[in-house]
Amino acid sequence: MEDRMSAVSDQSGIVYRNQKKRYPWWVKSVDEPTIEIDLEKTTPPSIYKSTALVQRFLHRKDYKEFIKRFPNIGTKRHLGVDTLLKTYDHREALVKKMVQEGIPGSTQKDLALAYAAYSLYYDSYIPLEELTERTSFENMTEKAGVQPWQGTPEEASNIIEKAARVLGAGQIGITTVDPNYMYPLSEGGKNAKPLPPEMKYVIMIVTPWLPEGTRRADTGMGFMANRVHTFLEQITSFGLRNFIKGLGYSYTVLHAPWPAFAVISGLGELSRVNRVVSPIYGAGINLYGIVTDLPLAIDKPIDFGLQTFCKKCKRCAEICPVGVVSKKDEPSWEVEGEWNTPGKKVFFEKSKACIAYQIKNHSSCSLCMAVCPWTKQDISVIHRVAKPLSAKFPWAASLMVMMDKIFGYGPTKDPKKLEEWWELDLPAFGIDTTRKRH
Ligand code: SF4
Ligand code: SF4
Repeated sequence: MEDRMSAVSDQSGIVYRNQKKRYPWWVKSVDEPTIEIDLEKTTPPSIYKSTALVQRFLHRKDYKEFIKRFPNIGTKRHLGVDTLLKTYDHREALVKKMVQEGIPGSTQKDLALAYAAYSLYYDSYIPLEELTERTSFENMTEKAGVQPWQGTPEEASNIIEKAARVLGAGQIGITTVDPNYMYPLSEGGKNAKPLPPEMKYVIMIVTPWLPEGTRRADTGMGFMANRVHTFLEQITSFGLRNFIKGLGYSYTVLHAPWPAFAVISGLGELSRVNRVVSPIYGAGINLYGIVTDLPLAIDKPIDFGLQTFCKKCKRCAEICPVGVVSKKDEPSWEVEGEWNTPGKKVFFEKSKACIAYQIKNHSSCSLCMAVCPWTKQDISVIHRVAKPLSAKFPWAASLMVMMDKIFGYGPTKDPKKLEEWWELDLPAFGIDTTRKRH
């Protein structure tokens, strides 16, 4: 436990936000997450064992050389360098073929846009802090020579939420640091230090996906959407970090698997995909975690009936092209591989096959998340009704799933519908800003 990024945070003086203001009436606040957790059975999560790590570097010009370095982490650890090199060649040939043949969803213009979006995402890994430090407006507290901003924890949470929303977040959740769910300090890089006790507040940011891009999941257009929302997650979190700094407080990026903190801070429940599903945005979300010493009022976990719903639904498991998502009737304590963190009773997934499929097909796939009834429920009146019904009567999930199949607005590979994207009158960033939380 000493190896974790923080000591157990001091919970004295912690206050809660008014949970009734967070969600519509059918989402309950609860004291504990809705999945079973047994800390006796857990081991520390490991960033090196994550399947996604390193995948993002696929577009480096020196990729073939790059992946030979640090062969025991992330994607390389699970797939092996030789397989990755072969998959890379397959992917490059596939892109060429799709463009030359004009495959719907991956035509020349589709993939040109996908790469334009990817350039935003990729370039956002340039150190944005360095860019800010070149400016003169980075820290309003220092510039004006005043004390750090003062207010109650409730007021602080309110201004953080308003700032996050205007900077691009769909929603935020607030909780405290919990070393049980943190990566080890030894995986934090050579300059990693334990968090001081005052750095105990965690702000989790949700950035929603582009619905019309998500609908085209597992095509070049879906890949484009994936890159846009990942970029938005980067700039939103970056803006919020500068806001905290401008108020005179400190921040650092949360060194932990973010879904755990999203669940604890009540942004959603853990689903059959073993990812967070939000009652507002469904599975179509990106997450980002920031730690700060600005004293905040925190949130509780939530329950909107997803555990019962997922047992009946299985749409994500049915659509997965490579059998990654569990089709079992009940969750389990048994992990599927070292990428899973034990100590929770959930539907563990075969992540290795997922990442191999995504790299090979150049698509970011996301079919499981696009098909989830919660991802698209506010598209039509029928879903507006189904959402509270599903939350209040999750045993009726089979009926809701049938309705979703009939009326749903699920992922499509219909060439006509893929091409229709270019005729849509889309809002900024493709995200419908009229989507309300209530
Ligand atoms: S992203 Fe695709 S391959 Fe991965 S679990 Fe979801 S459906 Fe399966
Ligand atoms: S598709 Fe169904 S089973 Fe899968 S996460 Fe969504 S609600 Fe749960």
